[in-house]
Amino acid sequence: MRGPKHFHHSVRTGIRLSEYEHVLGENADQLKRLFPDGVARLWGATPAQKERNAKAVAIRERRVGDEVLFYGEMKFIARARILGLLHNPGLAAEVWGFDENHRTWEHIMALGDVIEFEVPAAPVLTALDMKPPLWSLTLVPAAKRKLHLHLLDELLGGQASTVRRPVLGKGIAAPVESLGRGDLQRALGTLDADTSAGPRARSESLTLLWAIGRLVTGHDRMAPLDVWQSQLGPILSEFGPPGVAVSPEYPFRHLSDSGLWEVESAEHRDPDLVSVAASIESGGRAGFRRAAARLLRQPLARAEAIGLLCASYLDDVDQPELLERVGLGGYAYAGGSDGGQDDSGGGGRSGRRGQRRQVTVSRPDRDKRLVERVKLLHGHRCQVCGLRLETRFSHYSEAAHIQGLGHPHNGPDKTSNLLCLCPNHHVQFDTLALFIDEDWIVRRSQDGSRIGVLRRHPEHHIDERYVEYHRGLCGGNRLGSTHDRAL
Ligand SMILES: [Zn+2]
Repeated sequence: MRGPKHFHHSVRTGIRLSEYEHVLGENADQLKRLFPDGVARLWGATPAQKERNAKAVAIRERRVGDEVLFYGEMKFIARARILGLLHNPGLAAEVWGFDENHRTWEHIMALGDVIEFEVPAAPVLTALDMKPPLWSLTLVPAAKRKLHLHLLDELLGGQASTVRRPVLGKGIAAPVESLGRGDLQRALGTLDADTSAGPRARSESLTLLWAIGRLVTGHDRMAPLDVWQSQLGPILSEFGPPGVAVSPEYPFRHLSDSGLWEVESAEHRDPDLVSVAASIESGGRAGFRRAAARLLRQPLARAEAIGLLCASYLDDVDQPELLERVGLGGYAYAGGSDGGQDDSGGGGRSGRRGQRRQVTVSRPDRDKRLVERVKLLHGHRCQVCGLRLETRFSHYSEAAHIQGLGHPHNGPDKTSNLLCLCPNHHVQFDTLALFIDEDWIVRRSQDGSRIGVLRRHPEHHIDERYVEYHRGLCGGNRLGSTHDRAL
C-alpha cells in the first residue's frame, strides 16, 4: 500500500518546492503562488486506461474548489479542497515515483484546507449508494454532495463533542483535548482580560489571525519559530500597536495562557515560554493546540473567531488589508474575495470592491431563478428598510447571499440563504456593516445598535445557520453580546 506513505509525504508534510525546482516546469509560478511559503500539498492520479471509464470521468470533472475526501481501510481519514489542477508527469515521478505498470500520478491536485480526522466510511457510502471499498478517484454526484457533507459533519461533530474547558492561567499548560465554540470564543474574547493588556491583546490577535491564515491555506498548525519570526514580524510592526515595537516572541509568551496555544522545543515539549529564544535556536515550533486547530478548521467556528478578533481588538486597523495579508482576504466581505455577488440582475456593479479582487478559485454559478423568486416574494421591497426602489418601468432590488457562495464561505445557493435588499443595505450587508441577531433584529456591527426588525415573508424560509455564520463574520456572536448594551 503506497497510499498512506504518499499521504504522509505529499499531503500531511507537504513537499518543498525548492527541492523540485528542476521538474516544476511551467507549473512553477502557479505552485509558488498557491503555496507562498514554499511547501506544497499535492495528490495525484495515474492516467485512466480508457477514455470513458469512471476514473477518466473523475479526472476530467475535477474542478478547483472541489472537495477531496481521502479514504483508506473503510474510513475517511481527511478532507481537503482543490486549489489548483496541473498535469505534470515529471513532477509526479519525482514526488511519488512509478507504479508497477510504470505509470505516475501525473494528474496532480494542489490542495488546501487539509483536515485530518477518522470516521467510518460505511454510513456515508451507504447513504450515497456507493459501494465500498473505493478505488482511485471517485466522484460524488453533485446532487449528493450536500448530503455527503452533512453526514460527514454529523460524524465529525459527534467525534468532537466531549467539551472540556481550556485551563486558563499562567504556567498551567494542561492539554486541551477538545474545545467547543463557546470555549474558543471565551478564550479569544478575553485576551485583554488582564488590565493593561491593551497593546498585548492587539499583537496577540494579530498573531492568532496569522495562525488561522496558515490553517486555512492548508499548513500544519505548528510552524518553526523562525518562520513565525520572519513572516509574523512584519505584520506585527505594520498593524501592531502604534509606537510599540513588538517581537513575535512577545505574543507567544502570553498566548499560552489562552489555552489555545502551544510551543515545543526541538527535543521535548517546553511549557516554560520564558525560553522562547532558546526554543527558536533549538528549532522549536509553535502553533494552535490540536483541539483549537480542529475547531478552527470548521467554517462557522472560524468565521466567528475571525469576526471576534477583528471586532474586539482591531477596530482601528485596515481590516481588509490585514486579512488579505494573512491569507484571509475573503473574510473581510460576506461574499468572499472573488468578485462579490452580482445578483443585481440589472447590470453588474463591478468594482464595488474590485480593488481587492484576488486570483482564485472557481466562482460558483448562482441560480437566477432562485434570485427572482425571492425578489418577487418580497415585491422588491428591502427586508431591512422596506424601500421599494422605483425604476422607470418597474422596481429594482438585489438578492444577497447570507453565507456567501464560493471561497472562502462556501454557502449554498438556495432561497433559505438569500435576502431581498435595496442596494444600500446590500452593500452594508456584504461589507459586514450590519448583522441579524438571534431575534431577527438587524443591528450595526460597529456598536450593536438596532436598525430594525428583518421583514420576513411566510413563504420565504431563512435558515438560521446562515444568519449565524454571517453574524459570526461581523463579530456579532461576541460573548456578553453587544445587543443588551444597545437596548
Ligand atoms: Zn434597505
